[in-house]
Amino acid sequence: MPWNVKAWYRDRVLKNESLPDDLWRHVVAGLWFLHGLSDAELRRLRECVTLFLRAKQISGAHGLVVTGEMRLMIAAQACILILNLDLDYYDGWVEIIVYPGEFVRDYEYVDEDGVAHHAHESASGESWLGGPVIVSWEDAVTAEPDAGYNVVIHEFAHKLDMLNGDANGFPPLHADMSREAWSDAFSRAYGDFCSRVDADEATRLDSYAAEDPAEFFAVMSEAFFQAPQVVRTDYPAVYEQLALFYRQDPAQRRVA
Ligand SMILES: [Zn+2]
Repeated sequence: MPWNVKAWYRDRVLKNESLPDDLWRHVVAGLWFLHGLSDAELRRLRECVTLFLRAKQISGAHGLVVTGEMRLMIAAQACILILNLDLDYYDGWVEIIVYPGEFVRDYEYVDEDGVAHHAHESASGESWLGGPVIVSWEDAVTAEPDAGYNVVIHEFAHKLDMLNGDANGFPPLHADMSREAWSDAFSRAYGDFCSRVDADEATRLDSYAAEDPAEFFAVMSEAFFQAPQVVRTDYPAVYEQLALFYRQDPAQRRVA
């Protein structure tokens, strides 16, 4: 919609917002990586969450009843990525499906020899190009302090990556960013990470990042918000590019 209509619509949604204060405070208190946000940032996050919940449909699968608290927890984690971007970054799809725990992915693929396979594997999250985000609730609530793991941030990072087509670890950059600098930082770090994983070295970042460049970007994004010091120490150039892309510097936040 044109920007003025959009601004009017958002204003109206925010004026009529009905997020209970105590529930909001409870959810923020439970998500420790939000603790370093300033009051102004928390206000902006709350506005983003209000608009997000109006725009998206969150439903439970396999009998899971999605409560108001669960909706807020998912929305708050999804919105931390776009706190300094815009809700438009999540345009083009509406559905978030929440499973009680890991779910089974069934899909066909053709390998490099042209042989078709049927795969059947369990997953804690999935993002579809132009389609839903799927997360396991059990995994969405087990994010631990200082561990980089966060399935909600991971899947929404894939959504940002998919803004310019299939996920490939190269989301649309801002006009003031350099494609060369991004490519250089990520390809060097990915190469280094893969060789460490191949050598069975213990890595502080989730070894799943070695899967492909799209997973590397999603895992680095999880860690950028959850364990920013680790990304900044292990891969400073990647940290710098993520800080430019997300327009945030979480390593500078003081988490109580
Ligand atoms: Zn992934």
